[in-house]
Amino acid sequence: MSSLLAALKNKKILISDGAWGTFLHQRGLQPGECPELWNVTHRDDVFEIAKSYIDAGADIILTNSFGGSPSKLTHFELQNRCAELNEAAAVISRTAAGTDHLVLGSIGPTGVMLMMGEISEETLYDGFCVQAEALKKGGVDAICIETMSALDEACLAIRAARKSTGLEVVCTFTFEKTLSGEYRTMMGVSVAEMVQAVKEAGASIIGSNCGNGFDQMIDIVREIRNIDAVTPILVHANAGKPIFQDGKTVFPETPEMMAAKVRDMIKSGANIIGGCCGTTPTHIQRLVDAVRIR
Ligand SMILES: [Zn+2]
Repeated sequence: MSSLLAALKNKKILISDGAWGTFLHQRGLQPGECPELWNVTHRDDVFEIAKSYIDAGADIILTNSFGGSPSKLTHFELQNRCAELNEAAAVISRTAAGTDHLVLGSIGPTGVMLMMGEISEETLYDGFCVQAEALKKGGVDAICIETMSALDEACLAIRAARKSTGLEVVCTFTFEKTLSGEYRTMMGVSVAEMVQAVKEAGASIIGSNCGNGFDQMIDIVREIRNIDAVTPILVHANAGKPIFQDGKTVFPETPEMMAAKVRDMIKSGANIIGGCCGTTPTHIQRLVDAVRIR
């Protein structure tokens, strides 16, 4: 098991991977199909995604387990295979990463809301434990709780992951710019509220993913950095905001556009930089080139 914090001390800026979801759809995952089931039914496709980011020069890759919580898997009647599917996800990324790259076990939102009483705290907590333990068993170095918008769910996930695995935990939230120009999550959480809560819950790396392109992410990273001068920041930016064009969803930011802004991203305080929806191995490769030239 390698330490993400130790790797940051050695290298200062680490490059993470790009999109998984949009990449899986490109490889034939159909709408309504369970992405995590592909860890056993389409192992080679998932492996090739993981490997393509390692080949692009990423220091870190994630796992195909974003929707691997029991609650999410219930939609496919696969909740009883939670441990199996998450462990398989971790094994695939670990195999692609080898021992000299880091693997973060992805945990996304469950889609059920504590606030609405749709699930008990205990059931949600236990589900996160099952997922995190399986990711650890499959060989991840740390857990990445991502695309979060509710504080209660994120904090519960962090505590579950810390307690059940002892691994370092990264937590990233998805923000949107409001009409008044502030960044808030879908649930109304501000950047400052996120920073305080997730650190208290035990996250050692914080940040933002999805929802925004590079420019907005630079603003968000700066806002986090103004509140917290020391905690490492991870950012996974979308390749811009999706545009619906000729019946297809297109992400407009090219690898060159993202790479041109990477210095500003570092200046604003980011320590780990990667992509979210719409980014490809080429995006990651350009980011690697831009960071290494510095
Ligand atoms: Zn995304």
